[in-house]
Amino acid sequence: MNILERYHAMDYAPAPEARSEADAWLGARDFSKALFIAGDWRAGIDGKSFDTSDPSTGKLLAKVSDASAADIETAVAAARKALPKWSAASGYERAKVLYAIGRAMQRHQRLFAVLESLDNGKPIRESRDIDVPLAIRHFIHHAGWAQSLASEFPGRKPAGVVGQIIPWNFPLLMLAWKIAPALATGCTVVLKPAEFTPLTAILFAEICERAGVPKGVVNIVQGGPEAGVAIVNHPGIDKIAFTGSSEVGKIIRKATAGSGKKLSLELGGKSAFIVFEDADLDSAVEGLVDGIWFNQGQVCCAGSRLLVQESVAEAFIAKVKTRMSRLRVGSPLDKNTDIGPLVDKTQLNRVRRLVEEGARQGAVCWQPDQDVPSSGYYHLPTLATGVAPANILAQEEVFGPVLATMSFRNTEEAVELANNTRYGLAASVWSENVNLALHVAPQLKAGVVWINGTNMFDAACGFGGYRESGFGREGGREGLEEYLAPSEPHGPVIKPSVAPKQAARDTSENQAIDRTAKLFIAGKQVRPDGNYSLPVLTSKGKLAGEVGLGSRKDIRDAVSAARACKAWPEATAYNRAQVLYYLAENLSGRTEEFATRIVELTGASHKAAKAEVEASIERLFYYAGMADKFEGRVHQPPARTVTLALHEPVGVIGIVAPDEAPLLGLISLLAPALAMGNTTVVVPSAAAPLVATDLYQVLEYSDVPAGAINIVTGHTAELAAVLAKHDDVDGLWVVAEAEICAKAEAESVGNLKRVWTSHGRSLDWPTAQGEAFLRRAVEVKNVWVPYGD
Ligand code: NAD
Repeated sequence: MNILERYHAMDYAPAPEARSEADAWLGARDFSKALFIAGDWRAGIDGKSFDTSDPSTGKLLAKVSDASAADIETAVAAARKALPKWSAASGYERAKVLYAIGRAMQRHQRLFAVLESLDNGKPIRESRDIDVPLAIRHFIHHAGWAQSLASEFPGRKPAGVVGQIIPWNFPLLMLAWKIAPALATGCTVVLKPAEFTPLTAILFAEICERAGVPKGVVNIVQGGPEAGVAIVNHPGIDKIAFTGSSEVGKIIRKATAGSGKKLSLELGGKSAFIVFEDADLDSAVEGLVDGIWFNQGQVCCAGSRLLVQESVAEAFIAKVKTRMSRLRVGSPLDKNTDIGPLVDKTQLNRVRRLVEEGARQGAVCWQPDQDVPSSGYYHLPTLATGVAPANILAQEEVFGPVLATMSFRNTEEAVELANNTRYGLAASVWSENVNLALHVAPQLKAGVVWINGTNMFDAACGFGGYRESGFGREGGREGLEEYLAPSEPHGPVIKPSVAPKQAARDTSENQAIDRTAKLFIAGKQVRPDGNYSLPVLTSKGKLAGEVGLGSRKDIRDAVSAARACKAWPEATAYNRAQVLYYLAENLSGRTEEFATRIVELTGASHKAAKAEVEASIERLFYYAGMADKFEGRVHQPPARTVTLALHEPVGVIGIVAPDEAPLLGLISLLAPALAMGNTTVVVPSAAAPLVATDLYQVLEYSDVPAGAINIVTGHTAELAAVLAKHDDVDGLWVVAEAEICAKAEAESVGNLKRVWTSHGRSLDWPTAQGEAFLRRAVEVKNVWVPYGD
């Protein structure tokens, strides 16, 4: 054998991580009392347990107490009891606790890493170098937020008791993402880890005991879906934070509808990994290895769809195959292992099924010629080529080491393919031309975009999805928002409005009325599809006029017009500001006319009506001014990268405006949505719709592009339900009676649109202005841009 042959024949020797400390910990713990409630270790009330095992061997690690609904009851009671004191503690007190948790975790860093690899199967290199350090950073980072909360988030209070449900793929890291912001904001917690991976949460609870977390502030219950359901449905919980599959996320959206619980959902993904022809292909290959084979592909933001430019596709795929052949599949506790086992037999079977189905649908599935260990749930890294866009491997989240590849010809096609998914969690863009990459990033429907990199995370940078990847962000300022509530009280309860009867027509007194206000769609006044109209009554019960009775078809047309309007979202913020100022100016020229209309329809005094019109003009001015000021941020995470947290419009927003303050209420919702570049479909007050239809002329004079504002009059409940169910509506804001609000939430599950409702309460319209409205009007997209050679 010559030197070259010897060199090629060289292999890594095994480099096993010691597991003795983890075994000692496992041996010493009483897992029959694994529920951490009110600072005590308890058995489940009905005495049940479940097994957790080592995915690399299938051997049992522990039998862990399984929480029933009765245990959840106890845990919620403990969290409720602890809430007043914890939320009233000073920021400094809470900061000290968070810091102490971080420091204590640092002292047991290796034990955490080994336990995580034993329980989940992830390579020790990953748990040791990524999961555990990031989890620690989360606690230490949030200590600072606890202390600066009062000055950074004035007028806010903790959301309350939070129920947190996490998956098995990053057990400790997901726990940290959940618990750190909750503690920083003064919330108390009932957290349930996934049933496959309970162990590091148990060790974390031990850390809480030692770090001085007051009893009942952190409660950790163990179990499966049944315990999760009990948390979701518990009336003593104020907020649910869920990370898991989109399927369960949708169940939770429905279950919490109308409950008033705050909700954040971090769900699945099918993220694109886009390689342009001018990319550094070797770096991109390394990035891809991390993008799809990190944690065996069991990563919500895994770059599971490789989109590569046609001109380099063949060369790139060849490099990928060569690299795949060198990936080391083996024991998670070997420091040289790249790919460990999947978490469980069920997950392995699911991945196998999806690969078979993908192949049946025409994909060519390639695996390197390697052996896998004889025991354990291993799956070889798999490359699927010839994948049609509709193939199951291009559309479904596999959550395994399977990469689907497609090619594109030009930038437009790359963006189109990347966005051809119901998900929107992350994307990677590879090009040596940063101008191109920064041109593409805003066009991708994804909450996180990595340029020439992948899987970069930090506690200071928000993480979360667009579309069916969920809503809400974890990390950074945006993440804290999810755990805060406004401190002002709710307005009065909105009573169901009584629809005017058709019979109210009284032509003898209303000779002057000879026209019906139409709908306003795509910049034009159009008749309702059904050709019906609704009478509108004065406050004295006389006929004031008629408006079109909008239907499902009209809403559909309005949504299409809003979607087709590119001029508004693509306009500069300065441009949008000018249009909103102009709108205010044109409205001010008709103050008297609008005041008279409000008096007529609502019975308000002339003074009050005039004040409402003037407040509406002022509000338009405010949001015109904010259009170019409510901007994103730049983060500097502890890596050689800048992270641009961009504010992007949500998209098409449906707005259901209140009866009360028919002009100010409508403008207070419409103006922030427009200021941030959204296009809108507005259902105005059913009692006083003429206030909205009188706006048509103002809109026509004010350079608002066709389709940016669409107005459909009609029955509120009916039209709100159509908007809620419409899968091309991205956001929905509803100020209406409780039943309409609850329905809007429940029926939004189809595409998981971002729904905000007033939960059947009114708002204090004179003061209903500010950042809270602007925040709802944007999605935060974090674009990571590394620097240096
Ligand atoms: P899963 O949805 O099956 O389970 C997640 C958690 O929810 C578990 O704790 C489970 O016990 C619990 N659960 C199951 N059914 C429930 C119900 N009806 N009500 C309440 N709780 C219930 O997901 P999984 O298989 O554990 O995890 C994989 C999924 O998690 C993937 O889809 C992945 O993309 C997603 N994920 C998302 C992120 C993110 O930040 N977006 C991060 C990690 C994982």
